[in-house]
Amino acid sequence: MVALNVSVGAYALATILMVVLLTLLADLYALMRARRLPVRVEMVLVLVGIAILVAICQFGAEAAFYAFPVVVGAFLVRQGCFPLLFSSVFLVAVVPVIGLCAADWQIAIRLGLALLLCLGFLWFAAQRIAEAQSRLETSVIQDPLTGCFNRRHLARLSEAEDLSAASLILFDLDYFKSVNDTFGHPTGDFVLRAVTTLVRQQLDKGDLLFRIGGEEFLVLRLKPEEGTTRALAEQCRQRLEASRILATRRITATFSCADFAGRSQIEPVLGQADAGLLQAKRAGRNRVV
Ligand code: GH3
Ligand code: MG
Ligand code: MG
Repeated sequence: MVALNVSVGAYALATILMVVLLTLLADLYALMRARRLPVRVEMVLVLVGIAILVAICQFGAEAAFYAFPVVVGAFLVRQGCFPLLFSSVFLVAVVPVIGLCAADWQIAIRLGLALLLCLGFLWFAAQRIAEAQSRLETSVIQDPLTGCFNRRHLARLSEAEDLSAASLILFDLDYFKSVNDTFGHPTGDFVLRAVTTLVRQQLDKGDLLFRIGGEEFLVLRLKPEEGTTRALAEQCRQRLEASRILATRRITATFSCADFAGRSQIEPVLGQADAGLLQAKRAGRNRVV
């Protein structure tokens, strides 16, 4: 295309196309090497848009056909408001350029309407995809029964966050198998949901609740006030003991607390809390260690 434009004396268009080609090659090379793109995709799209406007001035309204893949491309390569903003500005520029440079207002208006329709459908599809993606992301890190975060999220978080000042509370429901055996599995599920609702109500803003086993949960406190974690565990234990989740059976849990105390890895802290929990279970359950 660059050579073709040079051969017909369209030097401005040939130069822009050359720049587009070079930026595309630079980005492609970076992509193949898994490196950061040297030229942002938004910049490449703007350059292609300018090339199309120049081509319309040079060769007439037929060059406007390229506007469609560019608008589709904007929605495919970027999320958020950029595709809508870029396509709207492009649309507003294309119509008068065809009308004035190609002196064909009928084609300009028809093409403008067709682009507007295209833009509308793409925007609608982009919204649906963004919603589905958000639902999927939530379902990947959440336990469907209780709404607590799951182990996958715990693993991700412990890699991404600085946990050296954090603390955690591990707790396990007492004699829960007997709840299932006596009242049935659906009632057991109801109890699990009720317990997590009750515990969640006690937590501070920076505290996160995870379900890490069947009836075993973990509260991760990212920025706890010093010395408050054990008190929080005790508060949860008391509220649970006093709650009337089931009319004929008291539901209790055993809690074990541990501080990261400068450690960045979660495994040793979890191991420490696990050992504490086992000890507390052996010592009689319904207690905090
Ligand atoms: P302990 O006080 O020693 O913790 O005794 P426990 O009975 O609570 O512990 P155990 O490990 O013997 O039993 C846990 C039970 O939790 C067994 C399992 O059926 C039940 N459970 C695990 N996941 C679920 C679930 O999603 N729903 C229901 N209803 N029960 C579950
Ligand atoms: Mg248990
Ligand atoms: Mg258990």
